[in-house]
Amino acid sequence: MDRIVKTILFNLTIFLFISCGNTPIEDLVIEESNNFTISDTVINHIQIPRDTLSVVFKLENDKVFFKIYESKIKNTIYFNIHDNENTSVEAARSVFNEIGGTLIEIQAQGKRLISFNSNKNIYKFDPNRIFSKNGIKKTLSACGRYSQNSHIIIQEFASFIVDSLLINAETIVTLHNNSNLRYSINSYKKDGKYEKDALKININPNHDPDDFFYVTDGNCFQLLKEKKYNAVLQDNKNVSDDGSLSINCSKMKIQYINVEAEHGHLREQIDMLLVLQEVLNKTNER
Ligand SMILES: [Zn+2]
Repeated sequence: MDRIVKTILFNLTIFLFISCGNTPIEDLVIEESNNFTISDTVINHIQIPRDTLSVVFKLENDKVFFKIYESKIKNTIYFNIHDNENTSVEAARSVFNEIGGTLIEIQAQGKRLISFNSNKNIYKFDPNRIFSKNGIKKTLSACGRYSQNSHIIIQEFASFIVDSLLINAETIVTLHNNSNLRYSINSYKKDGKYEKDALKININPNHDPDDFFYVTDGNCFQLLKEKKYNAVLQDNKNVSDDGSLSINCSKMKIQYINVEAEHGHLREQIDMLLVLQEVLNKTNER
């Protein structure tokens, strides 16, 4: 047995089953893993290709699962953080053999927001607004209830994501879906809701405005522009800190790309992932 896995089994009393071959995903569970250092096990545990693991984070008595699929290439992490954005996961899974990397899928309550019970109160939050103190405060308040204790619980959850799940990532590709004609590339145009967060944008009128890339790296933006895709380059200096992962990544100097597509745009999102793979290969060459 792998030394690291052994250590975890002994020290952290978690139960770990690693799939190799065709073991059903449902059979693979790691329980009680709040202290689990995934960086040492999952990300580096690539001796068996296409491992599938599931880890659990406990928000008091409520559980959030992360399903993890791996292949040989380990430095790119594809990350789904909103549990209702399933087209994006389907897109990534269907081309996973081609794009490689590690795919992490959240499994909470099937909704964008996650809720949990604490001290007989229900708290809700947006898991992509928790990567700064301000963000946690804002999302809890906006979702109806804030307390110091709930803030601490969510802060631990955010640390688990950043310091364990994503720790070894050189590139983080987030997988999102949106609803028609709401959040789109147009949100970053002049007079758009998020105009100030964008340094540059590229719009291809032949593409649906809901299907676009949101990136933090200028080279990546340029290459996506050359491929004629809708793309936004985040203004890393002036972007307003709402607790999004993109802002945390730019602070940590980790390349971040959000592949954003409308719910149901499976074909489009698959194309985007394949184009992105070409772009990432090129940026890595530079
Ligand atoms: Zn999302």
